[in-house]
Amino acid sequence: MGEYDKLVPPITRRQFIKGALATSAVIAAGSGDKIVRAENDEIMIELPDLPYPENSLEPFISERTIGFHYGKHHKAYVDNTIKLIKDTELGGTSLENIVKKTAGKSDQASIFNNAAQVWNHNFYWKSMKPNGGGMPKTEMADRIDKSFGSFEKFKEEFSNAALSQFGSGWAWLIMEGDNLKVTKTGNADTPLVHDQIALITVDVWEHAYYLDYQNRRKDYISDFIEHLANWDFAAENAGL
Ligand code: MN
Repeated sequence: MGEYDKLVPPITRRQFIKGALATSAVIAAGSGDKIVRAENDEIMIELPDLPYPENSLEPFISERTIGFHYGKHHKAYVDNTIKLIKDTELGGTSLENIVKKTAGKSDQASIFNNAAQVWNHNFYWKSMKPNGGGMPKTEMADRIDKSFGSFEKFKEEFSNAALSQFGSGWAWLIMEGDNLKVTKTGNADTPLVHDQIALITVDVWEHAYYLDYQNRRKDYISDFIEHLANWDFAAENAGL
């Protein structure tokens, strides 16, 4: 049991919001969780389960960091999004739709910031895995070589983007057509609203690393690349 398990009962980890037009049917799911699902287009905004146990990225990211980052920060973005879209026309639509519809609209900045952060964090957890990092498999490695010249060059570019993002934000490996690129985004901004296909991301908000690395963002990024990056997820996103 991690610290987070003691603080927040599992049932509150999943929250569902019912679309205004959805015809709902109650389906009892396994393990005691009662999930309300629609037969048509009811959409869930939820805190997804982590793809791995909270302590499994140690020693690079501690259980304590994951406990706060996933259990507090990510959960807050989910809770806020649910609250903010309640009784608006965005209720009952997908997370992607909410992010895209509110991007760049100053009167909907709060919804965008929270919803985009939900999407970014969903993506970040999958961008890592225990015993990850190192070289991708052949097809992905070839694609990286073709776009960056070499894997070493990619690492340098990705690391520089993550390091040079001033303040809070994200570094990404993205795909535009057949070409791969490294980008960075500030705060909640996301490739989703820039017509780019995200392949992998690292969260460089201080909450992602400060308990474990303090001001050493460089070491966190280096450990992400060498020990955590989930290249299978990247390859899947690239359609490989
Ligand atoms: Mn974060």
